[in-house]
Amino acid sequence: MLDPAVKGYSRPPVIAARRGPPALRQCCDSYVCPVCAQVVELTDYRQVLWHQQPGHQPMDVED
Ligand SMILES: [Zn+2]
Repeated sequence: MLDPAVKGYSRPPVIAARRGPPALRQCCDSYVCPVCAQVVELTDYRQVLWHQQPGHQPMDVED
């Protein structure tokens, strides 16, 4: 009965270590808009607002 519990104790530190590594946060700074299929940068508030409009067109990105 004790064996599964002992094995379980070796896991929590591994899971905790995977939480919020700074390098991986970049993956969440953008998403693909389901309406126009354009990549939306979550760091750009104008893009976020634009892609919240129903039936919108892809936003012009001049860069
Ligand atoms: Zn969009």
